[in-house]
Amino acid sequence: MSLLSVDAALQILLEQAQSMPRLDIEELTLDAAENRVLAEPLLAQFAMPPWPNSSMDGYAVRSKEVQAGQVLPISQKIFAGHSPEPLSEGTCARIFTGAPLPAGADAVEMQENTEVQADGSVRFLQAVPAAKFVRPKGQEAMPGDKILPAGIRLGPIELAMAASLGTARVKVRRQLRVAVVSTGDELVELGQPLAAGQIYNSNRTLLLQSLKRLNCAVVDMGILPDDIEQTRQRLAELDHVDLLISSGGVSVGEADFLGQVLREEGELDFWKLALKPGKPFTLGRYQGVPVIGLPGNPASSLVTFLILARPYILTRMGVTDPCAQHFSVPVNFAVPVAGVRREFIRVALVDGCAEKLDKQCSGILRSATQAHGLLELPENTTCAVGDHLRFWPFSSLFN
Ligand code: AMP
Ligand code: MG
Repeated sequence: MSLLSVDAALQILLEQAQSMPRLDIEELTLDAAENRVLAEPLLAQFAMPPWPNSSMDGYAVRSKEVQAGQVLPISQKIFAGHSPEPLSEGTCARIFTGAPLPAGADAVEMQENTEVQADGSVRFLQAVPAAKFVRPKGQEAMPGDKILPAGIRLGPIELAMAASLGTARVKVRRQLRVAVVSTGDELVELGQPLAAGQIYNSNRTLLLQSLKRLNCAVVDMGILPDDIEQTRQRLAELDHVDLLISSGGVSVGEADFLGQVLREEGELDFWKLALKPGKPFTLGRYQGVPVIGLPGNPASSLVTFLILARPYILTRMGVTDPCAQHFSVPVNFAVPVAGVRREFIRVALVDGCAEKLDKQCSGILRSATQAHGLLELPENTTCAVGDHLRFWPFSSLFN
């Protein structure tokens, strides 16, 4: 069986995700909409700012009345949040940042360029050009402008933008419901003692927490023992989920019970990926619910989740661009012999340069705790010190 490239696997996954029915739309307050996916573009309903206003504390003037040395009396004081009178000719208005410009005024001089005279009038030290320190009406947006496109995730900035437009509620996709199951007789949940041959279940925590960061509604199905009857029964209990993610039981030669049930009662594609860590991977379906099977080794689970499952999930959530932010960095190590699998190397960034961490085996999670992200070494490629490779920061992969 030849290896399936990461690009080909991703393409299949994204096509499948796009072919699924769109999640329903719900309308939420901004506070409740944090990290949801915007379902409809957000339009400006009015000009922003709604009126010309001052960007400085100073004096609003008619620019043509002000030459260097000009003295003008103050005819009014305009605070932010208050509505001014028209500016009388031959006067200036004391004005503060964010306050509306009075009708007739077309510029503001900042107070540092003025001197207050003994009689309270103001002397301007220099000429004031039109539009100086004025934020024009509609500088940020005009009515009908598309401010945010559909298919983005709403973070603090997008929500603040919606607030500034007076949008109290936004239309978002409902949460994707994802069930997580860990397979393997050797697995033990936290709080239980370890018997001989047993290990603690770390993939459960990895997957549940990663999915929560994506704002999925998570269903913890716990541990599935390597037993065909129990596997059948637990799968049949699956209710109201949009996706099942399993870990373990996809290695070659393994007593793969989940796979067996999917083959019998649903569908199953088994892939050998040109990916390191993370060669075995399954994509199946059970009663219409897609099932993603990740390899059990902790680093393989991590990489396959981040590189393949995450973009699939984001696409299901309605996100237009499911690709994490990445950038190119120089590396401080060489890989003289090319591999046939694309490698995602756990690296730390030191002065902007990628340093490979010790212990890259698929069974080891510890090096990932010391890493800032994954460095992508394409298949059939060597690298020399100083070469640039694509770096995927955990800060964006877990965003
Ligand atoms: P498998 O894919 O089931 O063959 O498992 C491969 C390796 O990953 C084995 O060493 C398993 O013990 C380990 N493993 C499987 N599932 C988990 C899990 N949930 N947490 C930690 N290690 C696991
Ligand atoms: Mg197993």
